[in-house]
Amino acid sequence: IIVIKDLHKTFGTNKVLDGFNLVLNEGENLVVMGKSGSGKSVMIKCLIGLETPDSGTISVMNKEINTLEQVAIDELRTEIGFLFQGSALYDSMSVRENLEFPLRRHTKKFGKIKDTTPLVIEALESVGLANAINLMPNELSGGMKRRIALARTLILKPKIILYDEPTTGLDPITSKEIILLMKSIQEKYNTSSIIITHDVDCAKAIANRMILLIDGINYIEGTFEELNASNDPKVQAFFK
Ligand code: ATP
Ligand code: MG
Repeated sequence: IIVIKDLHKTFGTNKVLDGFNLVLNEGENLVVMGKSGSGKSVMIKCLIGLETPDSGTISVMNKEINTLEQVAIDELRTEIGFLFQGSALYDSMSVRENLEFPLRRHTKKFGKIKDTTPLVIEALESVGLANAINLMPNELSGGMKRRIALARTLILKPKIILYDEPTTGLDPITSKEIILLMKSIQEKYNTSSIIITHDVDCAKAIANRMILLIDGINYIEGTFEELNASNDPKVQAFFK
């Protein structure tokens, strides 16, 4: 459902991605790990058209992003939910307004919606927070914010969800809840996901397959068990 081929991206003299390749199969949870600053977020931004690669190709649902017009990119983006590093809710908007925002922005997929309430409630129910509909972000805990941000990505019923460090900054119990939620969402919405994480427990719980991003390339790929059993010190460093 996603194919990245030979992706290069340099900022000034900082060579971040240096021939990175990735394939995400339909229905798969692919975990990408890599050191801080290794280019994981840049790779995701290239995927959703927020950064332009220097070279390489990215295709999403058989469409090559680099060749699309802006309108077509916008349309494709409704199929890709993106949970930002942190939660990135709009602080001045209520939970309801945060969820309505993508609906109003991407009117093509559903047409003009008169009553957004059923869609808002459905998305909130998927994350177990229907009763938070009228709260403001500053009234939510960190875990609740993450759930609401997830609900906001679900409201467009994406085929793909990209998670950038979904459990970072949460306590272990809340992290576990988020991981369980990610699994239940995949079952309910039939999504395919790329999950960027430093969290070994998260990777273990959710990865069908993993990629380690080291020195700008996909250094090694395999199941959690395969990578965990590797003798390569560069690989072991992630599993301590
Ligand atoms: P972390 O685990 O800390 O989130 P990361 O792997 O997501 O790290 P990126 O955010 O992808 O790392 O950044 C990779 C490198 O690219 C960093 O050295 C960063 O400084 C650089 N970088 C990212 N965006 C830009 C930009 N817009 N302009 C210049 N340099 C950038
Ligand atoms: Mg990052």
